[in-house]
Amino acid sequence: MSEDLNSIKNHYELAIVGCGPAGMAAALNAKIRKRDFILLGSEFCSPKLSKAPHIENWLGFPEIGGEELRQRFLEHLKKREISIMSFRVNNIYPGPPFTIMGKDKSLEADAVILATGVSANKLFPGESELLGKGVGYCVTCDGPLYKNKNVAIVSYSKEGEDEANFMADICAKVYYIPYYSDALRLDHRIEVKKSNVKGIVGTQNVERLDLGEEQLTVDGVFIIREILPAEQLISGLDMEEGAIKVNHKLETSISGLFAAGDCTGQPYQLIKAAGEGGTAALQAVKYLDNLKST
Ligand SMILES: Cc1cc2nc3c(=O)[nH]c(=O)nc-3n(C[C@H](O)[C@H](O)[C@H](O)COP(=O)(O)OP(=O)(O)OC[C@H]3O[C@@H](n4cnc5c(N)ncnc54)[C@H](O)[C@@H]3O)c2cc1C
Repeated sequence: MSEDLNSIKNHYELAIVGCGPAGMAAALNAKIRKRDFILLGSEFCSPKLSKAPHIENWLGFPEIGGEELRQRFLEHLKKREISIMSFRVNNIYPGPPFTIMGKDKSLEADAVILATGVSANKLFPGESELLGKGVGYCVTCDGPLYKNKNVAIVSYSKEGEDEANFMADICAKVYYIPYYSDALRLDHRIEVKKSNVKGIVGTQNVERLDLGEEQLTVDGVFIIREILPAEQLISGLDMEEGAIKVNHKLETSISGLFAAGDCTGQPYQLIKAAGEGGTAALQAVKYLDNLKST
């Protein structure tokens, strides 16, 4: 399903970020409307949908398992020749055109739909306050700034191990705090701390990582999560009760940026996610048409 990063163009009319029911429904509508779009997502789309054991509220299917529905969604996209690009978005800079940054590649789009779902993990104390002041989410982007310095990498997945190994060549000291139980494959120079993060501490910039029983003196903290908090993905985004604030057209506080699915708040349901995804795509199409005529 996933394509080679080299096939990504520099510019699209629309970029859809997230490949759950919301992102897939958005892509389907964008395709039907013959738009020039890209669907960016994770390697596995979507873990939440797959984990739903028995779904009883998806219209037309009195009972279906999440994995079966996921397979049907993917099959539907395939039939419409829609590909999902495995591309974790780390940052978006407002547009138009918006600039969408991944680990090894960036692209531009005139409109963007955020369909990133919600993270089950809460932010650490100090994380938002010190974002950009030592706290970061993209090791490849910001890692070189920490040459000969001390950093900690807090990771919820094995993906963090590659990032830590990369930093071991650059930094004076790398600490690795895994929030998962799989076996670790890390460079011998990396010090593993199997503790919970109590907070990230600093006045102007990051100074230390508080592990409760121990304080690590660090200049930077990278956090590797499956889903980044939306407000950290793009600055200036209005939030409401922890969700992206949208109106009934799924417009956010940033012109040209739409949001759909769990990331816009409760209820966390498939039908809402898919409905919002489809609506956001149609609204984005209108926005793009207006953009062209101005
Ligand atoms: C155990 C369980 C049971 C459930 N049962 C039901 C049920 O019976 N009925 C029901 O209606 N709902 C159910 N749900 C809820 C339903 O699964 C969600 O509401 C739905 O999946 C939300 O869709 P979404 O597209 O908004 O987000 P998600 O499904 O979370 O998809 C978001 C996708 O975007 C990707 N992504 C996130 N950030 C980025 C980024 N920066 N770059 C690239 N990709 C990114 C994620 O990896 C993910 O693949 C259940 C959920 C769970 C966990």
